[in-house]
Amino acid sequence: MKNNLLLLLGLAVLASCQPAKKQEPAPPPNIVLLFVDDMGWQDTSVPFWNKKTAFNELYVTPNMERLAKEGMKFTQAYSTAVCSPTRVSLMTGMNAARHRVTNWTLKKDMLQPMEVNHKTLQFPEWNVNGMSPVAGDDKAVHATPLPQILKDAGYFTIHSGKAHFGAIGTPGENPLNLGFDINIAGHAAGAPESYYGTENFGNGKEGKEIWAVPGLEQYHGKDIYLTEAITQEALKSLDAAAEKEQPFFLYMAHYAVHTPIMGDDRYLQKYLEKGMDSTEAKYASMVEGMDKSLGDIMDYLERKNLEENTIILFMSDNGGLSAVARGGEKHTHNKPLASGKGSAYEGGIREPMLVKWPGKVKPGSISDNYVIIEDFYPTILEMAGVENPKYVQAMDGQSFTSMLTKKESNSSERPLFWHYPNEWGPDGPGIGASSTVRKGDWKLIYFHEDQHFELFNLTTDIGETKNLTSEHPDKVGKLAKILSDHLRKVDAQMPSFKDSGEPVPFPDEITL
Ligand code: CA
Repeated sequence: MKNNLLLLLGLAVLASCQPAKKQEPAPPPNIVLLFVDDMGWQDTSVPFWNKKTAFNELYVTPNMERLAKEGMKFTQAYSTAVCSPTRVSLMTGMNAARHRVTNWTLKKDMLQPMEVNHKTLQFPEWNVNGMSPVAGDDKAVHATPLPQILKDAGYFTIHSGKAHFGAIGTPGENPLNLGFDINIAGHAAGAPESYYGTENFGNGKEGKEIWAVPGLEQYHGKDIYLTEAITQEALKSLDAAAEKEQPFFLYMAHYAVHTPIMGDDRYLQKYLEKGMDSTEAKYASMVEGMDKSLGDIMDYLERKNLEENTIILFMSDNGGLSAVARGGEKHTHNKPLASGKGSAYEGGIREPMLVKWPGKVKPGSISDNYVIIEDFYPTILEMAGVENPKYVQAMDGQSFTSMLTKKESNSSERPLFWHYPNEWGPDGPGIGASSTVRKGDWKLIYFHEDQHFELFNLTTDIGETKNLTSEHPDKVGKLAKILSDHLRKVDAQMPSFKDSGEPVPFPDEITL
């Protein structure tokens, strides 16, 4: 014993004289995911195409520019075409065809009237109750949520803003049931009744209870915009994380820029002076308010000396709204992309995505590799250093950390899938029940209602203007097979025809 002590003492003296050879393991990084609602690919001054567009000149997002300078810009990042499928994919790592929360959720056990009343299609019993952290819930997908794994790994997990993971009255409606330590303003609904503190964010309006934003009572009656209020609350939670000496995961999920389009008065005037119509000016002011939130978070991290150990990811949950509620011509708000939210075309699914990872990602870099929303789950776990994470669900997402740290990637060999056996509501190009595959330059869409195909080469035709099915029937056949194999493998649901009761055939069952 004595000898051992002497030996230890000797080693300690020796160690103190030597320069440290082994560094302490780096603390786990903090992770911020800024998730915008309904923000389109062109709703920013950062060009995500190969050239600046008129939209890039119109919108003012200096903090997205700042983040792009400090990180990597993804030009081909995808979500799904509507809210809940994307959010459930993000929180489960599952493709929408597999998790079956294929449309937006709200009421327990209920299909919305637009689905029930469709003229020709009977929609499947999809998971209308959203995601659930427990097994056995009816019409809900059971999965281990991303924040739960981070929490179990020692992270302080903060939900701020819009949740929209589960229907009213189900476990998934409350972010605290999904592994978040803190929930600021999140619940079942996917939109706020009001963005204005002076209107109590919709609280107290009769008949509008389900849309009233919960939990921000201290801002009621005050002249503050919702985006600002949830940002201020999020930063207070980061102070709490610092006191606990835990790494944090901040899921900053803005209600903006979803409808109702209500101007953010801090920024509105300048857009009116640009001559924009009042709806579009209001929309642009909401975008800039969201950008200010990003800037406030980045400033906070700098001020607290946290920026070197904090990863920031920026993403949107579906394409920019263009079919309803916007000013100007419908279906043009995401140009050069076709259509918008709800559509299988690029305007419905391609997103502005940025990633800053100090020491790993080259500042100011650009990636043309494609990624899809379910990839965030394994990526974030890898970033957090969680080894062998335990989850109950099948994993479709693939980590994109190698795209962040290396130049090469083989993303063009990997097929991406979208599946929407549902009805969104508004009409427009590419909007309706469909299944889609993208592989390399090519994208095939299969529309369920009339079983027609559309084939596009995205490299030469980003606007999906020329349907190449008759020029390339071989390509259609190959992609239809890849798509159908996936749908069968994950046991995807298909709609059926109201007149015959027969299911809509899989794409490879259609004779060209
Ligand atoms: Ca959305």
